Amino acid sequence: MARATYDVVLLPGDGVGVEVAAEARRVLDRVAWDTDTELRINEVPCGGRYYLEHGRDWPEGADAVCKAADLIVLGAVGWPSPDGRGPVTMKDGKMAGYSAVIGNRTKLDLYANVRPVKLYPGVQHKISGHARQVWRPEDVDMVFLRENTEGLYSGSGGILAPGGVAQVATDTRVITRHASERIIKLAYEMAMKRNGAPKDGKRRVTCVVKNNVLYGCKFFVDVFREIGKDYPDVEQDIAIIDAFTQWLIIRPEFYDVIVTTNMFGDIITDLASVLQGGMGMAVGCNVGDAHGMFEPIHGSAPDIAGQNKANPMAMILATAEGLMWLGDKKGDAALAEAGRKVEAAVRKVIAEGEVLPADLSGDKPGAPTSAVTDAVLAAMG
Ligand code: ATP
Repeated sequence: MARATYDVVLLPGDGVGVEVAAEARRVLDRVAWDTDTELRINEVPCGGRYYLEHGRDWPEGADAVCKAADLIVLGAVGWPSPDGRGPVTMKDGKMAGYSAVIGNRTKLDLYANVRPVKLYPGVQHKISGHARQVWRPEDVDMVFLRENTEGLYSGSGGILAPGGVAQVATDTRVITRHASERIIKLAYEMAMKRNGAPKDGKRRVTCVVKNNVLYGCKFFVDVFREIGKDYPDVEQDIAIIDAFTQWLIIRPEFYDVIVTTNMFGDIITDLASVLQGGMGMAVGCNVGDAHGMFEPIHGSAPDIAGQNKANPMAMILATAEGLMWLGDKKGDAALAEAGRKVEAAVRKVIAEGEVLPADLSGDKPGAPTSAVTDAVLAAMG
């Protein structure tokens, strides 16, 4: 009998999502074997292509299956519609794939979007097109926490006088104490577990806001200061969003943990991904108190789908984050350690530079997706 049993939902989605999810499955199978754990993987189809065939963007009851899971791993959703007008859209106007991504975030209360940004040795950041290393790997090791449930995404807004000359559109930015407190607390807690900023080793939480103008941000900062009193070992840093975009690129080594509201987080985490080598390396963890869903931040990349050349590293690193999260949550040290081992294997493969996918291989030809995973599995020993 296995040492422990967990239910894992794998949501492959569309395009390269399906391809990298297959690689995640290989990593999960390997970890299950190495740690004597039964990982019961339930693969649930979803996304734009599923919608075209079935008239819904995932099977009936899929939300309950996700709710019952110990861990959710998502590939990517979204597929070009046959009429060439953007992604496949459902009757209610939402993109097909919405249920798996936003639906899960909302229904499972995945209030924190956690985005680790690390530059691994051997990866060229994407700050300029030239093969010039402005930032060294030791300069870039931070984690962003984006509030995932409210702000400009709260759906509180609408259109008045549609179609008329007096038409008005509003999006109300909602910032609540409840949501602010839990994401800010998580940021301080995370800082306590990390090793501080690369620049000076100081534990630091940077609160990114526009508090010189916006009431929601003034409030967010008040909560940030209030909760910070319980964490005297963590330096409080408040940054105005516009200036922050420059500082992030000019001095990434200053940053340790960064906490911000939903819309600002959406924008600055994509900016931050250039520091870590782009879409093929960037991971998004959606976590709440009870559930967690882990994904690469890239989309379904229809331009390269079906060519076995997608970079599976972001998906593999997302799987590793999921294993560490589940291991910590369940007090299963072996599982958490297995997640760290997967990350270390990715780091090793990239540093050796022998088997790299096309987006990391520079002038050399890229290795196929499955060969990159082969190398990661081999590096796990
Ligand atoms: P979405 O809005 O769903 O995030 P998008 O169209 O903004 O999608 P992606 O699908 O992420 O963006 O693709 C953006 C670019 O990054 C494309 O050129 C794509 O080929 C590339 N890309 C995305 N994922 C990968 C990957 N895993 N490996 C290599 N290149 C990738």
